[in-house]
Amino acid sequence: MASIDVKDLKKHYKQGTSVVKALDGVTYTVESGEFISIVGRSGSGKTTMLDCLGLLLKPTAGEYAIDGQDTHQLSDRQRADLRGRKIGFIFQEFNLLPGLNALENVMLPLRYHHNGKDGKARAQALLEEVGLGDRMHHRPDQLSGGEQQRVAIARSLITRPSLVLGDEPTGEVDSETSQQLVTLMRRMNKEYSVTFVLVTHDTDVAAQTDRVIRLKDGRVLSDVRSNPDQTYLAQLDVKKTAAGG
Ligand code: ADP
Ligand code: MG
Repeated sequence: MASIDVKDLKKHYKQGTSVVKALDGVTYTVESGEFISIVGRSGSGKTTMLDCLGLLLKPTAGEYAIDGQDTHQLSDRQRADLRGRKIGFIFQEFNLLPGLNALENVMLPLRYHHNGKDGKARAQALLEEVGLGDRMHHRPDQLSGGEQQRVAIARSLITRPSLVLGDEPTGEVDSETSQQLVTLMRRMNKEYSVTFVLVTHDTDVAAQTDRVIRLKDGRVLSDVRSNPDQTYLAQLDVKKTAAGG
């Protein structure tokens, strides 16, 4: 079952007498567990695309199904519920709550959607996994940008989503940190079999994903799969074995 099934999706904005076609008939399918990027110039429709996938925006026309479930007929409440159950978000500016520590930030989505028992233990385990086992009680202002985004990555997974969406998730950090964050997201993608869709204008980030969808003027200009880096995947297997997982 495809994780994402988008058919002739359109999002048009009325601007006075003219219409901005932010998405102008986009069609593609993403299989469950893929790790892909959406690229394109500023204004090409990337954020609009991601917000539609995240059920934050209603398309003007077309179809969008997530895990085989069509979203077209859903009420706002049903859309919010589906979002809470299925989708995790990572933002460019981390979007952590300043008054809460790392652990509390990771647990925050559970207030709105609780998926399973023992949220605290899972939040702790996720923070360990992103390398912040010794930072659980630090507040965001006591963490570096890269560490804050690691907290946000842990937070995006706390509800056991099937899809994680990131809009320029490495846009605020230096290139070395960016590299580390993409490696971490890739590891989470494999470990939890979660589909990742990352919007980026950073070619280094896009190069690390399995598939690059390029938008131009609200349309798909190209959709290219790369061979997964076998050396890299082998390294991950070695790490997993060493960690006993
Ligand atoms: P990107 O993320 O690739 O920079 P966006 O999806 O933000 O592109 O925007 C695509 C196009 O839609 C742009 O021309 C932008 O100006 C326009 N647009 C985005 N949001 C709105 C809105 N709320 N109202 C009107 N036009 C919008
Ligand atoms: Mg954008």
